[in-house]
Amino acid sequence: MAFIMQKINKVLVANRGEIALRVMRSIKEMGIATVAVYSEADRQSLHVRFADEAICIGPPPSSESYLRIDKIIEAAKSVGANAIHPGYGFLSENEDFAEACLDAEIIFIGPSPNTIKIMGSKLAAKEAVAKFNVPLVPGTSSPISDVSEAKTIANKIGYPILIKASAGGGGKGMRVVNSEPEFESQLERATSEAISSFGDGSVFIEKYITNPKHIEFQVFGDHFGNVIHLFDRECSIQRRHQKVIEEAPSSALTPELRKAMGEAAVNVAKSCEYYNAGTVEFILDENKNFYFLEMNTRLQVEHPVTEMITGVDLVKLQIHVAQGEKIPFQQKDLSIRGHAIEARVYAEDPSNNFLPDIGTLSTYKIPKGHGVRVDDGFEQGMNIPFYYDPMIAKLVCHAADRNTAIEKIIRALNEYDITGVETTIGFCRFAINHEAFRNGNFDTNFVGKYFRPELLQNENGFEEEQIAVALAAMLSGEHQDKQKASQIQGINSKWKSHREHKRD
Ligand code: ADP
Repeated sequence: MAFIMQKINKVLVANRGEIALRVMRSIKEMGIATVAVYSEADRQSLHVRFADEAICIGPPPSSESYLRIDKIIEAAKSVGANAIHPGYGFLSENEDFAEACLDAEIIFIGPSPNTIKIMGSKLAAKEAVAKFNVPLVPGTSSPISDVSEAKTIANKIGYPILIKASAGGGGKGMRVVNSEPEFESQLERATSEAISSFGDGSVFIEKYITNPKHIEFQVFGDHFGNVIHLFDRECSIQRRHQKVIEEAPSSALTPELRKAMGEAAVNVAKSCEYYNAGTVEFILDENKNFYFLEMNTRLQVEHPVTEMITGVDLVKLQIHVAQGEKIPFQQKDLSIRGHAIEARVYAEDPSNNFLPDIGTLSTYKIPKGHGVRVDDGFEQGMNIPFYYDPMIAKLVCHAADRNTAIEKIIRALNEYDITGVETTIGFCRFAINHEAFRNGNFDTNFVGKYFRPELLQNENGFEEEQIAVALAAMLSGEHQDKQKASQIQGINSKWKSHREHKRD
């Protein structure tokens, strides 16, 4: 079924949590009606309360609710929604879902099913972009079928190499092989992991770039063949190959490199006739060579840093393009204004290998102030459901330059007050405060190289020291001083929550 062009008047958001809210906020501002879908675990969720209408689509497991194409299409039809926004995760990169929307004459706010299909396979994506002279990581261009042939190729590329699942995503299905004797056993593991996680055992080989930076470009296309990019984001601070801190722009790019990578990103989008919002991911090696990794055919978690530096509301642009309008500006109209950093606040325990720490948000106080944006889906007292991704919020700070943005986000992280679950707040503060982050001299190995859980205990130790100093000052009567008094008050409440937290 071909693309249908019509004015959007009611959007069903096929997602939950912070992204459902973020998407609905922009849609409401455009005077368009919003419809939420929810599982039984999300009855009380903020996205359900925020929407004009809400429909329960099934039990808590996502396979029975947020991943049910039939139920979501039925819900959209039942309320007369003429468009669906998929958010990220869940069905956002599912070509069958995009197709089902078209079949039901509902606008899918994203690219075509065929584009999703090409870019959903890392191998098909490489094949498509190779025609556009986009630099690729040296490696195989088809799935491994013969082990001894694969070994020969690996030797030619040179160890270390990476075995990757073609259908992989979310940092899963990747195995580093340091030398030939490990090759066969790692290949077996990668294949079985690919089958169990993605139902497709195709794996291929790539040169393992040892100290890479992860740099991605926000791209946008419309139905008239116009494609632009909205600059870069750096997402090198990762745990388990998954991002925790992102910033825009990357401090590693010169204007010339930014231009070359931006052009390559636009070519990637053109190679698959891209329309709507997408992200082209690259890795940058130590000699500043860049290589295409993959394309994500949806709005990205970290899209707010791009919004902050360009002033463009990406969700509104998605809606305009989806109803058949042209992108209302050209590449030359865009410029980078200031610097933005995002810290992902997860309910995870950094001292326990970042394992999810599900529970109730006994205290939940968020930072505020100039240049501070919090995209979240929770309120104090709410539970973080065990069924879904444990992200609590995204803290995004924007300032005139990188150093000021760093100071702002550290202040904002200090202002956060969450008890009841362990979070990544302390870890984010540690990372952003680190000399390597501050001077831009870091890569995707940052966590492995610098992070030890004990360092966060020291961070708490520092807080305890601060408390002791403040209490001593209070006892010596210094609290007459107004500034000191407010400091003491802040530290007192921190001390209280610190103790409560210890009890939880
Ligand atoms: P996924 O689809 O699972 O996100 P990607 O291909 O985007 O997989 O890779 C995720 C992360 O893994 C990258 O950000 C990078 O840190 C690392 N990575 C991927 N390919 C390579 C490579 N060839 N060399 C070094 N690191 C890599």
